[in-house]
Amino acid sequence: MAYDYDDQNIFAKILRGEIPNQTVLETEHTLAFRDIEPQAPTHVLVIPKGSYVSYDHFAAQASDAEIIDFTRAIAKVCEMEGVTLSAGEGFRMISNAGAHGVQEVPHLHVHILGGRPMGRMVQ
Ligand code: IMP
Repeated sequence: MAYDYDDQNIFAKILRGEIPNQTVLETEHTLAFRDIEPQAPTHVLVIPKGSYVSYDHFAAQASDAEIIDFTRAIAKVCEMEGVTLSAGEGFRMISNAGAHGVQEVPHLHVHILGGRPMGRMVQ
């Protein structure tokens, strides 16, 4: 299946340095930065540097190196933000995809939310 990637999306512009961001962590294949409208004391977005629309796109087409780097970067951000189970009170990770997932920015991103109880997910 073909995935349509729009290289004019806002996170593509962040990756090209056309829009500023508050970087939390940068690795070879991954960038993590603060959400512009934080929903919790910790609200960080983690994105692969590659052009992937969604998690399913990434899992299907990214290299093992990209996938490992992305996975570890998410955990590293949780550690840096003090929300891991080993050092803190926990966190929520969410990745919205497509229309039903209500994805606003069509570049794969994982939201890391923490620093307060999140409440039950009801929708
Ligand atoms: P989505 O609904 O899962 O696609 O979430 C997109 C997220 O990107 C939202 O939480 C927005 O607040 C966030 N966002 C949009 N533009 C920017 C930006 O320029 N910098 C950081 N976060 C942004």
